[in-house]
Amino acid sequence: MTKENLECSFCGRKKPETNLLIAGLDAHICDRCIEQAHGIVLEETSQSKSDELSSELVLKKPMEIKSFLDEYIIGQDVTKKVMSVAVYNHYKRLLQPTTKDDIEIQKSNIIMVGQTGTGKTLMAKTIAKMLNVPLAIVDATVLTEAGYVGEDVESILTRLLQAADYNLEKAERGIVFIDEIDKIARKSDNPSITRDVSGEGVQQALLKLLEGTTVNVPPKGGRKHPDQKFIEVNTENILFVAGGAFDGIERNISKRLNMQAVGYNSGKDQDQVDQDNLLQYIIPKDLKDFGLIPEIIGRLPVLTHMDPLDAKTLRSILTEPKNAIIKQYIKLFEMDDVKFDITDDALDFIVEKAIEYSLGARGLRSLCETILTDAMFELPSQDDKEFVVDKDYAEEKLTRSKINKLKAVS
Ligand code: ADP
Repeated sequence: MTKENLECSFCGRKKPETNLLIAGLDAHICDRCIEQAHGIVLEETSQSKSDELSSELVLKKPMEIKSFLDEYIIGQDVTKKVMSVAVYNHYKRLLQPTTKDDIEIQKSNIIMVGQTGTGKTLMAKTIAKMLNVPLAIVDATVLTEAGYVGEDVESILTRLLQAADYNLEKAERGIVFIDEIDKIARKSDNPSITRDVSGEGVQQALLKLLEGTTVNVPPKGGRKHPDQKFIEVNTENILFVAGGAFDGIERNISKRLNMQAVGYNSGKDQDQVDQDNLLQYIIPKDLKDFGLIPEIIGRLPVLTHMDPLDAKTLRSILTEPKNAIIKQYIKLFEMDDVKFDITDDALDFIVEKAIEYSLGARGLRSLCETILTDAMFELPSQDDKEFVVDKDYAEEKLTRSKINKLKAVS
């Protein structure tokens, strides 16, 4: 065969018709076929990559999601149910191949309202653990408008990238938990009084992240500056969960319920209103009255509340969840071959103190630490193989400790 007669073994083009013809052992390939083949390779590998990610993502049915949450979180049944459905729908939407009809399922970003220490962060953490997706926990209070001291909202995505070990595809299916969202509420109804650096401006900046867009993210965080390379992150499939205490919002809720009660169409009788847990009646309007802008509320369409923790719940938190605090101490002592036990009245005493000091669930851990520190210091070097904490022991350790001073403060 002369040089001119050579042809591409794939498309049959003669050499003069090609820009380049590469010879193999028994065949030739032209530049066009190489390009086409390259395209196929790219498509296939990206498909298998996203299949791989999808198989890593463990999506359970809402009821299964709730049972999983039950293992780690005590109570909060309403929020667990709402979260299970929202998370299920969000990831169902994400795992569905795009359909031909025009129905586009919107994101189910979530906002949880509840006092601190009632398990909002725990809820987000547990969901992320169950789904096996990266989670970034960010504090809204550090965010400021671009150009001011503080962090740009893009830093939220930097955190998510870090949580995903800079695997962009993983990050783009992750969960962002924005804590203290109530702290970026508009400070006053009159925006002209002062520059509202950490309030409405931040809400505006957050909007675009929440709705789903491509954002240039500085991979190492910090301020954007011209020399830094950016990673483009698409927030379309990122699930945003916001949480906040919204201190004082009960007053708005109560006022609203009161007005409803005196109206002709009084839906709710004041007698039936559970005054100890007004948050359960929260509606989006209450968030607006508190200072969140309507656009933000619209992009956090799933609104739910956390119940306050009563003594019974606190008591269960100590011993029941899969990694309950007491279970953790039992394990710690076990490593030193010490059999650790704590009596019921000691547990009741800890709960009583947590309530007395208004420490909530978060206080349970610090109280336990205070009570057990001496033992954890001494026992590993001693021969005792059993250690039982009763109420007297707990009381004595606590009386001697600094934590008692909290009483004066609170
Ligand atoms: P929040 O985000 O609402 O301020 P966290 O989720 O950080 O509260 O909760 C603080 C701690 O209290 C967590 O470490 C968790 O162990 C415990 N906790 C709070 N609420 C619950 C709950 N309902 N069930 C189990 N543990 C809880």
